[in-house]
Amino acid sequence: MMKQTHTVLKNVFGYDNFRPLQEEIIDRTIDGKDSFVLMPTGGGKSMCFQIPALIFEGITIVVSPLISLMKDQVQALKANGIKADFFNSSISTEEENEVITKAINGDLQLLYLSPEKLISVSNTWLRQLNIKLVAIDEAHCVSMWGHDFRPEYTQLKVFRRSLSQVPFMALTATADKSARKDIEEQLGLSNSKLFISSFDRKNLSIEVRGQVQKKRKLQEISNFIERRKNESGIIYCLSRKNTEEVANHLKGEGHSVAFYHAGMNHEEREETQTDFINDDTKIIVATIAFGMGIDKSNVRFVIHYNLPKNLEGYYQEIGRAGRDGLPSETILYYNMRDFVLYSQFADDGANSDMQKEKLNRMLQFAEAKSCRRKILLSYFGEHLTENCGNCDVCENPPKDFEGTILTQKALSGIVRMGEKDGITMLINVLRGSNNADIHSKQYFTLKTYGIGKDVSFFDWRDYVIQMANQGLIEIMYAESSALKITPIGWEVLKGDKTIRLTTPTSPTDKKKQQKTAKTTTGGDINKDLFTELKKIRYAISKEEKMPAYIIFNDKTLRLMASELPTTENQFLAISGVGMNKMEKYGEEFMNVIRKFKSVSKPRKIATTVTTFELYKEGLNPTEIAEKRNLSITTIFSHLSQLYSEGKKVDLEQYISTETINKVREAFNTLGRKIELKPIYDKLNEEVSYSEIRISITLILKNE
Ligand code: ADP
Ligand code: ZN
Repeated sequence: MMKQTHTVLKNVFGYDNFRPLQEEIIDRTIDGKDSFVLMPTGGGKSMCFQIPALIFEGITIVVSPLISLMKDQVQALKANGIKADFFNSSISTEEENEVITKAINGDLQLLYLSPEKLISVSNTWLRQLNIKLVAIDEAHCVSMWGHDFRPEYTQLKVFRRSLSQVPFMALTATADKSARKDIEEQLGLSNSKLFISSFDRKNLSIEVRGQVQKKRKLQEISNFIERRKNESGIIYCLSRKNTEEVANHLKGEGHSVAFYHAGMNHEEREETQTDFINDDTKIIVATIAFGMGIDKSNVRFVIHYNLPKNLEGYYQEIGRAGRDGLPSETILYYNMRDFVLYSQFADDGANSDMQKEKLNRMLQFAEAKSCRRKILLSYFGEHLTENCGNCDVCENPPKDFEGTILTQKALSGIVRMGEKDGITMLINVLRGSNNADIHSKQYFTLKTYGIGKDVSFFDWRDYVIQMANQGLIEIMYAESSALKITPIGWEVLKGDKTIRLTTPTSPTDKKKQQKTAKTTTGGDINKDLFTELKKIRYAISKEEKMPAYIIFNDKTLRLMASELPTTENQFLAISGVGMNKMEKYGEEFMNVIRKFKSVSKPRKIATTVTTFELYKEGLNPTEIAEKRNLSITTIFSHLSQLYSEGKKVDLEQYISTETINKVREAFNTLGRKIELKPIYDKLNEEVSYSEIRISITLILKNE
């Protein structure tokens, strides 16, 4: 017999296999033990507490600081037929009371709460609940060492003590060693086991473009989006002003774009975010305030318009692309101006040294000439043995050459200028430029004046930065970015050490690279059908007021477009299709596929909502089917669906106890797999699919 956890994974969520660690975490939790789950964004953390929540008899409390994420997750759970709700400051008193009643009556499997709400109710009605598991999402918020400390989180310890017998699970995508220790202490997880999954997100391509002028940057981005019509993406900017500027520019070129930043009022932000989630706006240009609470799985690209402040933030932000596992692209633009600006901010802020160190690491990453994924993952303590093959450096490896003489020219230039000037002045002197500064400082008299004429300004810039990265030069940000020679630099200057430099990538190389870059629309799927499936998904999402990706994510749609399922069993075999979604939407999507295969059937939007309306009007299933031009099987599946959602539908009237008993027996012997065909066969084709479906719904609901 299949393990119960697998059955739930397949029947409820529609997935065939657990991802690494999920199963172990779930088993441990069901055993009643604490866990600490560290997985990247999109790694599948939620499943770790959602499956135990469905298996336990009682309620699972999920603490999350992000209101919009809560809503999103609850919606996704409900779409899979799970009894979940949330409770935070955004809902009305009536809604609140409704949720409380459901929770107390044992009518909820998962309840999401913000930490402050949890604390405020922990001594009232929460005590009456049969709590079986507590999951603390975004657990890094508990640590002062993290980058997103929230004081409310520190009170969770008291809550933990009051439930010492209940397993706790802390989940986060970012926590270094000290933060981890802190989180365990703060939450009182003394016997928890740490689970760290790979942070490698292979489906994300990584590209860095340095020193691109603003005008060209906008042009490149515009071209990039042009080639990816109808795909969702996020562009992160440093400042609010920037987001508006970039958004307006792109809008002017006819793209579907909106901006988002903390200076907008609550409603405006909500609306922008909702439009993005619902695919009504394709691209958001935002400050980093955007994306925290977003679970959108079909974000196909993330562009950083400026250098991020640290690798933690960068990785989290690019991680918002490709949650569905499909190839997605990320591009980071940066220039030294961003870096200098941040360094100055860091000087003024708290934890200044740490912030600067993190910023330096960020810059080193951007400047690096070796596999970017290797660098990134090693920062998070994971060491790849092979180059990734999916970053700009791997795809276009730099050529290196013996660069000692070139380096010596630059270093001696710095020495002769008294280590007082910055990079631009150095290059102008090396290239023998003529300008007022050079004249007033009499630099044209230096021996190094004009010794680097043959190298372009941009190439010099690249070389000098490489020298800084190799530790030969230090950029003194506190002294107007003056260049100073380090002890290693002196060794090179004296001829005791040789240096290799890499050839800068020219803009033409980059163009070539763009052409060869993997597109996300390849593969063995039929694009027209995929577009049709997207359309029907969009229509349903509008009707049900739900983000399109919650209905089915892109990956699932692509599978439909390649596998072409036209029977219920084939449809259920598609990854991402659980029983509930099959019932609810299967017929419509299959109709599109059938039509595509030219076995035409009338195509009509068949949501349960309309069926319920007609049912309430007193029509019987046959009449509803006629009126809606749908099969009776579909109407029965709608009614079953409505019934499991708790709607007032008298399902029993359509079936005899005898039939239910027959189905129950077959269902149990077949390992309680929710698959209609085997049961149908087992019962010698004597019980119809509709009857089997209704029976299973009743059996599950009344256990
Ligand atoms: P996280 O919370 O770690 O950011 P999620 O829990 O939102 O990630 O999962 C990301 C996506 O991966 C979701 O669309 C989820 O349904 C999917 N997913 C999770 N576990 C599996 C699995 N075992 N097989 C296939 N998809 C999965
Ligand atoms: Zn690589």
